[in-house]
Amino acid sequence: MSHDAYICPECGTTYPLASLAFRCACGGLLDAAPFEVVFPPSGDYAGERSVFRYRQAMPPFAGDNAALDASWRRVTMGEGLTPLLPLDPTDPGVLVKVDYAMPTLSFKDRGAAVLVSAAAAAGARRLVQDSSGNAGASVAAYAARAGMSCDIFVPDSCSPRKVAQIEAYGARAVLVPGSREDTAAAALDAAESGARDGSTFYASHVYNPFFYQGTKTYVYEIFESLGGRLPDTLYIPLGNGTLLLGAYYALKDLRGLGLITAYPRVVAVQAEGCAPVFRAFASGGAAVVPVANSGTEAEGIAIAAPMRGSRVLAAIRELGGEVAIAPESGIDAAKKTVAYRGFYVETTSAATFASFFRRRAAGIDEGLVVLPLCGAGLKSA
Ligand SMILES: [Zn+2]
Repeated sequence: MSHDAYICPECGTTYPLASLAFRCACGGLLDAAPFEVVFPPSGDYAGERSVFRYRQAMPPFAGDNAALDASWRRVTMGEGLTPLLPLDPTDPGVLVKVDYAMPTLSFKDRGAAVLVSAAAAAGARRLVQDSSGNAGASVAAYAARAGMSCDIFVPDSCSPRKVAQIEAYGARAVLVPGSREDTAAAALDAAESGARDGSTFYASHVYNPFFYQGTKTYVYEIFESLGGRLPDTLYIPLGNGTLLLGAYYALKDLRGLGLITAYPRVVAVQAEGCAPVFRAFASGGAAVVPVANSGTEAEGIAIAAPMRGSRVLAAIRELGGEVAIAPESGIDAAKKTVAYRGFYVETTSAATFASFFRRRAAGIDEGLVVLPLCGAGLKSA
């Protein structure tokens, strides 16, 4: 099997990256074909100041390694390597990772930088994507950087600031009436008709496995920041699972390399108003049953029917993790508490803290905890 490939976990079919395939003929979502992971970074990579510091832990892109290096060096904007700091300077037991300190002000740049580099190496000239906002802005920025045209489908309820940011990069924002799922369906139609021209790449952070190869750098960075160890507990917001699955891959890598002997406690957080994975986890089911979004302030994780839901469930169980709820009534207060410590985050990012604060108030001792600050407050206010 070529290493430069996607593989379908349902039926085992492989597709070369240059095919621009975005799902299997059987309907399965694609993974990256197995590849060798090198970590910690060595050689020139050890001095790289972006997520491509961990390039040796990512799959090959289309073509050879020289093509890979050429594509990411053109696309990177120095994303990643974000600060890891105490939330409160007097409490060293609660650390935040300042992941809004990125080119487009959200953690999604980790995934978009890698995904767009892979698309460039595969010969894509046009990107299509759907998003509730942050991933769209991120892909739009990196598409501009790579010199590609870009269409981003967003729900028409999307924050006007996020739409303005997408358009600022020269991308076309296509506003779709209805739910987040209606937006995804419209983007999929565009990707399927565009795929026939041989140059359109469906740059979906849900469909394309390279996005997770970018988000996994979140955990590598924490490991390096803490001097070669992980915290006792990682809180991770959970909508589609873009950060959760990235963290899962990184934790598997670190354990496979013998750098950790046990997984940290992983607490995946869903919003009370839209918590399909929480329900499935609690009921012991293997599949996520779509729910009706009853309304949540945390719009960025309000995914009623996560496409990789069963994968996410299996990952959390394999890690021995759990799924927690962010109480809607606590999100605004959490946002304020975090801002009073100097960190202005968007409402969705505050949801993770709402869950953490409630659990801590209930007396749950989780040791050294790391929580992400995923998106900047200016995006949603
Ligand atoms: Zn298949």
